[in-house]
Amino acid sequence: MRRLFTTPIWQNREVRERLKWYYGVMSDLKPAKFLIAKRIPCEINIEHSSDERLWEEHERLSKTFNEILNEIKNDRMLFDELKPVTVSYIDLKVEIAKRILKSCHFCEWKCKVNRYESKKLGACRVDSKSRVSTWFHHFGEEPPLVGYGGSGTIFFAGCTFKCVFCQNWDISQDPFNGVEVDGKKLALIMRELRNTGALNINFVGGEPTPNLHTILEGMKHLGTNVPMLWNSNMYMSLESMALLVDVIDIWLPDFKYGNDNCAIRLSKIPRYFEVVSRNHKIAHDYGDMIIRHLVLPNHLDCCTKPVLKWISENCPRALVNIMEQYRPEYIVAERYEEYPDIARRPTHQEMEEAYAFADSLNIVYKPVS
Ligand code: SF4
Repeated sequence: MRRLFTTPIWQNREVRERLKWYYGVMSDLKPAKFLIAKRIPCEINIEHSSDERLWEEHERLSKTFNEILNEIKNDRMLFDELKPVTVSYIDLKVEIAKRILKSCHFCEWKCKVNRYESKKLGACRVDSKSRVSTWFHHFGEEPPLVGYGGSGTIFFAGCTFKCVFCQNWDISQDPFNGVEVDGKKLALIMRELRNTGALNINFVGGEPTPNLHTILEGMKHLGTNVPMLWNSNMYMSLESMALLVDVIDIWLPDFKYGNDNCAIRLSKIPRYFEVVSRNHKIAHDYGDMIIRHLVLPNHLDCCTKPVLKWISENCPRALVNIMEQYRPEYIVAERYEEYPDIARRPTHQEMEEAYAFADSLNIVYKPVS
């Protein structure tokens, strides 16, 4: 059934052009990438193959996937021409993700802990089970993601970052918050969100990355067409990026810091700029994206301007949401004296300076900010 989304935002030419694939899937004019991946046959015995053999097959199927995707994008092939298969590209991804859990390197912490053994946990403290704090139709996201049905947002507990100003700290810093979900339960949640009008499935938290195995398994069990949205701090490993790029229809990454010193001090994250910029570039090469940048007070020169400059040079097709809603929360709210630079909201003047700088770089931000 084709869904009609006629909210005014889609009359904006920049939005239509930059989010063309997402719009097609959202409107049921195109199949979501994960549905295509489910129809690409995997030709090895995934249970009895070595890790190296699984990755070789993954690389081969990614090429096949992108050839087919290109045909479908350009109306040279219909989804129905692809027949159901017994073991698919998605099954292969699920198997690889489950093996990564035994020596976890879903993100660049690369803790290498066996998350099936709950005695020793990694930096995110999420074990092998995924827990969802809540899920609902979110109307506070960017206009192209919301429409009349909202964004089908699923909040996973736990996070790979420790931001001192986190607004969702009760979810992000407590990996045992919420109810356990496996792939089948997650698929039911996704189906229900879409069938009740959600424009997309928005994986967030906390952070979705530690739950990649469950998310891929959820896609394996889902037969409903809906765009998959990755709403993340973008600290994924290259392996996680490889598992994601052929199943995510739209990226909603967060680019906070323009240098590593601010990232270490405020989020306890090493190698921030190198990792996060690398992953933004990969995501931009593969799909539609809206990049979020939260303007921190007193961080215009060290963070906002370098981030916007990098985006303008490396992600020219991205829409950018320059966010003004920072407020001192969580640890900053209790220990103002340790974080005097971010102990207030950004001023009107700071926001105007951020917008003027974005204008000077020809960044498209007005439709989504
Ligand atoms: S997801 Fe990242 S932080 Fe969590 S255990 Fe794996 S590598 Fe460590």
